[in-house]
Amino acid sequence: MNETKLKIALQKSGRLSADSINLLKTCGIGFNDGLGKLRTEAENFPLEIFFLRDDDIPEYVSDGVADIGIVGENVLAETQKNCVMIEKLGFGKCRLSLAVPKSFDYQTIANLNNKRIATSYPNVLSRFLAENNIKAEIHTISGSVEIAPGIGLADAVCDLVSSGSTLFTNGLREVETVLISEAILISRSNLNGELQTILDKLLFRLKAVRAARQNRYILLNAPNDKLQEITALLPGIKSPTVMPLAETGWSSIHSVINENDFWEIVEQLKAKGAEGILVLSIDQMIE
Ligand code: ATP
Ligand code: ZN
Repeated sequence: MNETKLKIALQKSGRLSADSINLLKTCGIGFNDGLGKLRTEAENFPLEIFFLRDDDIPEYVSDGVADIGIVGENVLAETQKNCVMIEKLGFGKCRLSLAVPKSFDYQTIANLNNKRIATSYPNVLSRFLAENNIKAEIHTISGSVEIAPGIGLADAVCDLVSSGSTLFTNGLREVETVLISEAILISRSNLNGELQTILDKLLFRLKAVRAARQNRYILLNAPNDKLQEITALLPGIKSPTVMPLAETGWSSIHSVINENDFWEIVEQLKAKGAEGILVLSIDQMIE
């Protein structure tokens, strides 16, 4: 009998590939991702994995070749396919920005009126320009957009940026943010019951991995006369674990803290007399 499998499309080779593969593996899904593979099956989860160009993934998902996929929000926004975003994944962060040569006297977005803008994102850009009442000429090119002003093809560009170093080395200055993006899990809008059940199982694991990545396990030693003040800084999942040390007058405290609060809390813990602070990463976290 053929077991039903959920089909997922991942980027074959590019900026999202390693993190996408890693995410599935951290969810306990084992598979062979050997070079050059187009398709593989997970060993211990009803999942079939396709490796494709990122631009094609929304189309494959909306056509039903794959059921779900991982792409940048930028790609979904541009292709306007009939897919839904199910979950943000926390990697592949970047923004789609407008940039102009350093010599361009840019004051406001109105300076882009009647200018030529090179981009690989004509749909997203034309919506943005329309919202801002700008009439410009959009030149669609598929790669190396950042060189367009230098070779006289355009007056400005609309391109993906993460650190901004590519713009900088090409003498460009970022002037407007068009879209903020990260990797997302997309799906066809109506999966049948069996596929939805598998997807729910995968989502349960994804949520546990994401929660774990946002938290750290912390252990520390505290003098007993400071226990109350120190545990008040560490709410944990329910409340921190407190155990006596072999040395009288001291306790060991175990808890979970959010990575955003991490440094601030560690400083306060030290100030209150905590010692031997250990911080560990968490693989999965199920509340
Ligand atoms: P493919 O061969 O699959 O078409 P590509 O060249 O279009 O690959 P990549 O450059 O690998 O795509 O980028 C994939 C995604 O990574 C982008 O769509 C975007 O969501 C994200 N990303 C994150 N940071 C950046 C960045 N600095 N520049 C471009 N993309 C980025
Ligand atoms: Zn692409």
